Amino acid sequence: TLVLGIESSCDETAVALVDTDRTIVAQRIASQEAEHAPYGGVVPEIAARAHAERLAPMIEAVLGEAGVKLGDCAAVAATAGPGLIGGVMVGLVSAKALAMASDVPLIAINHLEGHALSPRLADPDLEFPYLLLLVSGGHCQILAVEGVGQYRRLATTIDDALGEAFDKTAKILGLGYPGGPKVEKLALEGDPTAVPLPRPLLGSKEPHFSFAGLKSAVLRAHETGEHSAADLAASFQQAAIDCLIDRLKHALAESGAMPNLVVAGGVAANRRVRTALEDFAHANAMGFSAPPLALCTDNAAMIAWAGCERLPLGEFAPLDFAAKPRWPLDPDAEPARGAGV
Ligand code: ATP
Ligand code: MG
Ligand code: FE
Repeated sequence: TLVLGIESSCDETAVALVDTDRTIVAQRIASQEAEHAPYGGVVPEIAARAHAERLAPMIEAVLGEAGVKLGDCAAVAATAGPGLIGGVMVGLVSAKALAMASDVPLIAINHLEGHALSPRLADPDLEFPYLLLLVSGGHCQILAVEGVGQYRRLATTIDDALGEAFDKTAKILGLGYPGGPKVEKLALEGDPTAVPLPRPLLGSKEPHFSFAGLKSAVLRAHETGEHSAADLAASFQQAAIDCLIDRLKHALAESGAMPNLVVAGGVAANRRVRTALEDFAHANAMGFSAPPLALCTDNAAMIAWAGCERLPLGEFAPLDFAAKPRWPLDPDAEPARGAGV
């Protein structure tokens, strides 16, 4: 049983055909790094336009490579939010047109659910429930994932997302955009204990994360001229990891024992982060699961997979389903950003 997935919520245009047996049959991904690099970040209008130009030929290429027609698919699944609204609309409108033309049901996918369920695409043994650390460009949350569509948020950031903090640190250090992988690479040559940096909210009784102060501290330390960029990168990364582990401890105490710890989202591609989380999981008698690197950052296989997971629920979207710029996974927990502690 095949599901076609479409992703266009940020700066990756992506299309994938995934089988419910977990085979990624075919996929295409086009990054817009080159378009946005001169601006040091994603420009929404440029992103929407690039998605619009690229999507149709990519859909054709994926179906062509797999040798299937859209009518052979059980559903078309598209990211319907949250994200940059122009880009989301481009993907969703394309999906609606395909669904209508081939009489295939449409599944509207929450991009965060794509990240949240992505570990199950790669790991057939990963069962619900699991404790999920979702760390991406726009989000930093800990969720108890109890089933498809059943997410209980235990923690979120009150200011920056962790991916955002990586990107800003990269900018401060003059590494360019996108920053996460560049900070990780440079950190390999640095001493993680060289620069004293704060660990915001460490030991706090509130469940949340905060990374804005850490980023400002990197800026101040950089301005002293006393530290190498590699030491700053390594020290930033270590401070961030210490915060993640501390907040996971807190969340685990709240949630009670969980059989598995899972990490997803772009920052999950960071090897130091993965190793620290794996150590934490094992120290707490939990299994650990992280998607392969290519499934961590934005991709359409995770969207198609979320469609596969949702197929048995039979909740198809009407063709006038509206794109949502904001769409929390756990509506009960919103709002929390900037709520203060
Ligand atoms: P969201 O999913 O919250 O809507 P997004 O889709 O922009 O945001 P992702 O594609 O999931 O985010 O992740 C991109 C983020 O991951 C960027 O902030 C990037 O810097 C970060 N990132 C990617 N690779 C690494 C890495 N190796 N180390 C640290 N951060 C990384
Ligand atoms: Mg991206
Ligand atoms: Fe994402």
